[in-house]
Order: sequence, then C-alpha cells, then structure tokens
Amino acid sequence: MSEVTIKDKRFRIFIPEAEILGRVKTVADRMNQDLAGKNPLLLAVLNGSFMFAADLMRYLTIPCEISFVKLASYQGIASTGEIKEVIGLNEDITDRPVVVVEDIIDTGATMKRMLETLGTRRPASIDICTLLLKPGKLKVPLDIKYTAIEIPNDFIVGYGLDYDQQGRNLRDIYTLVEE
Ligand code: 5GP
Ligand code: MG
Repeated sequence: MSEVTIKDKRFRIFIPEAEILGRVKTVADRMNQDLAGKNPLLLAVLNGSFMFAADLMRYLTIPCEISFVKLASYQGIASTGEIKEVIGLNEDITDRPVVVVEDIIDTGATMKRMLETLGTRRPASIDICTLLLKPGKLKVPLDIKYTAIEIPNDFIVGYGLDYDQQGRNLRDIYTLVEE
C-alpha cells in the first residue's frame, strides 16, 4: 500500500517496515553493548511505543526487563501543550539503570516531564531511546542517547503511531499528504 486514507486525511508511505526493523536492530545492538551486565529496565511509554518496544525487546540479547507507563499530551495532529500525569509506574526503580522507550520525540515536552518524574525516584541512570526524532521541532534540551530514525517536521502514522487513534496497525510508517 503506497497510500492510505485515515478518516479525513491521506498518507503516503515514508519508511518501509524492513528499514524500520533494520534501524531498530542497530539501536538494539548498541544497547546490547552499552548495557551488558546491567539488567536495564525498559520503561515504554504507551500507547505509541508498543510496537517499537516489542521489536526492540526481541533484538535485545542481554538480560533486561520491561514495564509500561502512560503520559499522554497529544490530540489530533497538533500538540495541545497540556501535560498529563505519569501513570502505571509500579516498579521500584531505585539504583536501576532505566531506559525510557518512546515512539517519537517532537517538542520534547513529554520526555522532559517523564525525566522529572523518574528523576525523583533515584534510578542509577536514565537513558532515552526513541524510534523517531524530529530535530527541527525540539524545544527542550534533551540528551537523547538512542535514536533509531530522524525525520522532518511532518506528521506521521503507523508502526504504533496514530492519527486520532487509527493507523497504529500499519506495518510501515506513513507521512501526511498535504491537500
Ligand atoms: P512532544 O511532547 O515531544 O511534543 O510530543 C510527543 C508525543 O506527541 C509523542 O509521544 C506522540 O504521541 C505525539 N506526536 C508527536 N509527533 C507526532 C507525529 O508526527 N505523529 C503522531 N502520530 N504522534 C506524534
Ligand atoms: Mg509517545
């Protein structure tokens, strides 16, 4: 499928599944090196990161654990600027190496909020791992250790990412076609 329509918008294929998986493996290989023997706890931020987290985890060959948290700030295709609470963090992360796993970093506001919340719980370290990064939109200084793919400022869907809750099941990543 080179084009899909979701609700009122058209999207065209942008990053095919094979390329996504190759990039995910590259990031996983780096983590296999960096985090060997450290038993990291991956904290995947729902909903968007569920597919990335699953593939990343399958490429990790070191002992590791995963848990899921939620912190939503987006509706439709524009950031509302409204930041919600972190929910679902039941693990004791004290003295543990934590890797926050995100689908996409846009302005960076969501990740900043996440780091503030996690920081108060005294983990041994916090690394950021994101599938996608829009460097042109980043407003908050963030030390992003693992980025699978850098993209332009356009709105994308697929591979876990939604447009109004639809399109998460697409295997490839699609970009919005401006009408
Ligand atoms: P930030 O707080 O960095 O501005 O936004 C992060 C969140 O906005 C992401 O976790 C994601 O839910 C949403 N987001 C940002 N850009 C896009 C995009 O191009 N497509 C989709 N589907 N969500 C996006
Ligand atoms: Mg996200």
